[in-house]
Amino acid sequence: MTEERAYLDGRAVAIEAGETILSAARRLGIEIPTLCFDARLAPHGTCRVCLVEVAGAERPHAACHTPLLAGMRVHTQSARVVELRDRVRALQLGATRPGPVDDSHPYLRIDPGACIACGACVAACDQIPGRSVYAIAGRGSHSHLVHGPGDQLAASRCVGCGACVDACPTGAITDRDRACAAPVERTTRSVCGYCGVGCEVEVRATADRVLSISGILGAPVSRGNLCIKGRYAHAYQSSAERLTEPLLRRGADFEPVGWDEAISWLGERLATIHRESGPGALAALASSRSTNEACYLLQKLFRVQLGTNNIDCCARVCHSSTAAALRITTGTAAASACFDDIERAGLIVVAGANPTEAHPVVGARILQAARRGAVLVVIDPRRTELAELADVQLQLRAGTNVALLTGIARALLDSGRVDQEYLRDRTEGLEDLRVMLQDVSVADVAAICGVDPAELERVATLLGAGAPGLFVSGLGLSELSQGVDSVIALANLAMLTGSIGRVGAGMLPLRGQNNVQGSADMGAMPDMITGYQPVTDPAVRDRAAAVWGSAPPATPGMTVTEMTAAASRGELRALWAQGEDLAQSDPYQERVLAGLRRLDLLVVQDSFMSETARFAHLVLPAAGALEQDGTFTNGERRVQRVRAAVSAPGQARPDWEAVRDVALAMGADWGYETAADVMDEVARVAPQLYGGVCFDRLDVGGLQWPCPTLDHPGSPRMHEGGFARGRGRLVPVAYIPSPEADLAEHPYRLMTGRVLDHYNVGTMTRRTPNQTLAPVDWLEMSAADAAREGIGDRETVTVQSRWGSIEAPVRISERVAEGSLFLTFHQPETHTNRLVGPGVDPTSKCPEYKLVGVRIIRRPAV
Ligand code: SF4
Ligand code: SF4
Repeated sequence: MTEERAYLDGRAVAIEAGETILSAARRLGIEIPTLCFDARLAPHGTCRVCLVEVAGAERPHAACHTPLLAGMRVHTQSARVVELRDRVRALQLGATRPGPVDDSHPYLRIDPGACIACGACVAACDQIPGRSVYAIAGRGSHSHLVHGPGDQLAASRCVGCGACVDACPTGAITDRDRACAAPVERTTRSVCGYCGVGCEVEVRATADRVLSISGILGAPVSRGNLCIKGRYAHAYQSSAERLTEPLLRRGADFEPVGWDEAISWLGERLATIHRESGPGALAALASSRSTNEACYLLQKLFRVQLGTNNIDCCARVCHSSTAAALRITTGTAAASACFDDIERAGLIVVAGANPTEAHPVVGARILQAARRGAVLVVIDPRRTELAELADVQLQLRAGTNVALLTGIARALLDSGRVDQEYLRDRTEGLEDLRVMLQDVSVADVAAICGVDPAELERVATLLGAGAPGLFVSGLGLSELSQGVDSVIALANLAMLTGSIGRVGAGMLPLRGQNNVQGSADMGAMPDMITGYQPVTDPAVRDRAAAVWGSAPPATPGMTVTEMTAAASRGELRALWAQGEDLAQSDPYQERVLAGLRRLDLLVVQDSFMSETARFAHLVLPAAGALEQDGTFTNGERRVQRVRAAVSAPGQARPDWEAVRDVALAMGADWGYETAADVMDEVARVAPQLYGGVCFDRLDVGGLQWPCPTLDHPGSPRMHEGGFARGRGRLVPVAYIPSPEADLAEHPYRLMTGRVLDHYNVGTMTRRTPNQTLAPVDWLEMSAADAAREGIGDRETVTVQSRWGSIEAPVRISERVAEGSLFLTFHQPETHTNRLVGPGVDPTSKCPEYKLVGVRIIRRPAV
């Protein structure tokens, strides 16, 4: 095939696929000025500053959106175009319309006097977050930017992603945090410390203070974009409330002590309790906010030095059900797909997840994929933003996932539109599933779930026609007494449609915390050491002993809920909580608080005096995500480098260093000097997943496990050549109503969850201007329920479950159906988790946060 060529300023250029005149010029190093062009967006050619001449054409062309064609001869610097560009620029800069500055938003500022109405922000807001906040009103010289009611950005649909700031070529839209007077002393590439999406960030800072954060163009996950938390919510880092020195309890008070005293005191206390009560009296919780290296060393300290498998992490209270279900069905406790599959998918099913709020960068990618034509099915008790865009939403009753998903499986099998070849060649268990589904009727299921049977049938039709599909799931599936079965039922659908291990398809659970995948990978689990290797397997223990010097104990330890229960009975005496704020985030708070009070030793590593730290005997000040070196592993198994962008305040230190020093104080011969040394050992303990991972290979974009050897490129997708367990397993699961669904005394089904502006228990986001955007928790209630209860919008009510009660203001909302309520959990004053009971999934031990039976009590009129 002959190469197709064009000529730019007389230089021959081979045409690449999708090339424009501008992209070819940039490739050749030819400079063409631009204003409204943004590499993240479809070029719109509005500003006309990139005009070029094309031989044979009468009019000049905008280089940014004119395709480069074979034989084309382009002149980029002719006197005519240079003069034209100058005139265009002069016209545009003269066409601005001074007006009042809009600084209603805590993070963005809009100055109409600098706006040339080029439309770059319109395109950015449409094509990145998909919010369509801006429009150009008027025509010609009267055209001008409008945004939000009364031109108040704070009152618009803006989600504070900052994409418009990056797109604006004139500085009309700016970041308010860039106005800080301090000069930038260093710029560091790292990873966002909020959610499990794992967006790469560029941090500008002084030696000890973060000034501003941007996305990185070309970063594999975020592609230059961030959400409001990753981009703007960094003020917590320099908060005056940061912990800056170790604090040792003396009676009712804490006394600041040096690290040496803190470490030797802690080493002695652990040794004493170990000697007096044995290893079973000690336990630890690794932090999914902290690095892989910190999690790895904490589990090693407890397994090797203290001889107990009593180690767990917050994955237990979020996606442990997902992990267990995927291990059963596929052989690997992680996503089979990757985020890039979103753009390749023709069919996306989002079940029990609200990604535009909880995982905004991925949520925006799903939203844009649906806009471009991917079929979108949403299964959720709430009418989320994605549900509004979906081809079908099944707005089921909370906790009825298993019934609904088996009903869809029945309809799919009845339709015959399953992937017979895939099922025959790659899976097992189809007959068992088929037998079980004989007792399932679509009509019964629809009645249990409160959905229209025709809509359920329609979803089955869409799945059959659109397969393979990408199955995105969240905590709405996992955090239930049938969490494991819910995810198994979703995996059954994925296998019936031949989706797992295919491009643009598979299972994609969205992980909550920045390093929750990594904390489980590292072995912060009571039954598995690093790399998901069971402690009960003698060969695993032998291999671990070869690296660690001694083997971990063979008996699995306690999960987090078992730890607090054992503490409340006086059976657990010592708990090391790395980052975990149990006193806010865990269920059945009555038992948690009783357990924390009864402990003889509670050690808390945290950046702030958390609710849990108030019970501690020793508090160790922790460096934050932007203050340390190490790695995080995101929800698509991508191990990425975290780098210290600023120094930690006072004596705060990375968690892994404190763990190492305690181990050394207890006689261990640990020689780690850097976080990289720790990762080198992880690679030896878990070679099948992390064998090829080392800091030198993680410079840009990281590596996705499995990455078994140093020359392995990593694995964006799993199970492509066959399932990790051999054959994918279809498992019959049957719906069992939760005790929380008994509505006799507690007639509402309550779900708890997050909003965009906050992160989990708000330790970080409450200490940023995000708090002004969402200053309180609230209870969403349907208009019909509010009218029946006689409750007005914004009225504060008491929410009472079988386990406790709290107060919250009501927001009358179309997002919840009649009989359903949704309550956020970010503010310690609300203490939402007092409502959540001891119910857990029997396999994963994941608590039931997503279904709590409650009643509503109005306050007596004063
Ligand atoms: S910050 Fe994001 S959502 Fe808000 S106006 Fe700009 S692009 Fe749109
Ligand atoms: S989507 Fe998640 S990782 Fe990305 S910027 Fe937002 S919080 Fe950070």
